[in-house]
Amino acid sequence: MKNPNKDGFFGNYGGMFVPDTLMPALAALTQCYEGIQDDSAFIAELEYYLHHFVGRPTPLYYAQNLSKQCNQKIYLKREDLNHTGAHKINNTLGQILLAKKMGKTRIIAETGAGQHGVATATVCALMGMQCNIYMGASDIERQSLNVKRMKLMGASVSSVTSGSKTLKDATTEAIRDWMKHVENTHYIIGSALGPHPYPLMVRNFQSIISKEAKEQIIDQSGSLPDIVMACIGGGSNALGMFYHFLDDKTVRLLGVEAAGEGLSSNQHAASLSKGKPGILHGSLNSVLQDENGQIQLAHSISAGLDYPGVGPELCHLKETGRLEAYAVTDKQALQGCKQLAELEGIIAALETSHALALLSDDAILKKNQTIILCLSGRGDKDMETIANHV
Ligand SMILES: *Cc1c(COP(=O)(O)O)cnc(C)c1O
Repeated sequence: MKNPNKDGFFGNYGGMFVPDTLMPALAALTQCYEGIQDDSAFIAELEYYLHHFVGRPTPLYYAQNLSKQCNQKIYLKREDLNHTGAHKINNTLGQILLAKKMGKTRIIAETGAGQHGVATATVCALMGMQCNIYMGASDIERQSLNVKRMKLMGASVSSVTSGSKTLKDATTEAIRDWMKHVENTHYIIGSALGPHPYPLMVRNFQSIISKEAKEQIIDQSGSLPDIVMACIGGGSNALGMFYHFLDDKTVRLLGVEAAGEGLSSNQHAASLSKGKPGILHGSLNSVLQDENGQIQLAHSISAGLDYPGVGPELCHLKETGRLEAYAVTDKQALQGCKQLAELEGIIAALETSHALALLSDDAILKKNQTIILCLSGRGDKDMETIANHV
């Protein structure tokens, strides 16, 4: 099953767990989204901006030196080369065109690492829309360069000081804002998360990644890959990378979560590996929680993976055995980042570096496999953290 049922469930996960005041907004969004599926003018406009503004298609790059070192054939899907430096803009562009179609004039978004905030501020500037970004106070500190970027493009950034002062709390504030201003405001969620139809919509906008990659790998290597892998925060780059390979049963799908200080330490963000079903931000997912069902704080060296939940479709794919989920520590991720920088001259985001770190694990991968890894973003934003550790 590739699409959720009418209530927004992928198997046992998903749904629309929101206050009544938001149900009409979600219904209108679903209706408008269904309307654009075969709207050729909408599709043409999206394709125009993806090509001329974002820079798609992104290359599928054969990483020769890394391949030799790891005894694999490794291809990197270069989402880091998108305008704004990550995959997130594939989604924000799709959603802002949708918002325009619905007659909205104001955009809000939550952000963790600031990458989604930047991608949202970017498309708001492009489309002349008012933009307000919610960001945890700790993340504002960790990612000050991205805050400056957003402001330069005309967005206002609201600092969220409740809870852990990170992404989870910023999301809660964004939902509150949306409830108050739903008439003129569209909420652009940054990952394949939240109530239906967001997980479906975000996955579809991101699926351009695997649409291109599948053609590229067949063109370059003559066959399907053995393994497709990506890091997992909420799940948008992973689902975008997996989508067009879901039916190719010989292709292993590997997702890599943040094990932070270690899976037994309680300082991690491995919601697929260690979570239990629970409701967070509008849908039922695998969530990090204590015995009493209180949401636990996530920890990761990368702000973009620092979230205690994960989207419903990945939960479903894991439960049905299609997705293999692994987790790597902060330390391993830094190693992965360093290895790619030294061998290939590419500085990856710390989020992405989690997937890179798994390349050294022969027990999981086996040798001599053809692998596509989603290089979800570039590491400029993380340079301070990286420099402090390696
Ligand atoms: C936001 C982000 C992620 C994590 O988000 P997903 O929705 O799981 O993709 C991963 N990599 C980069 C570079 C990011 O900016």
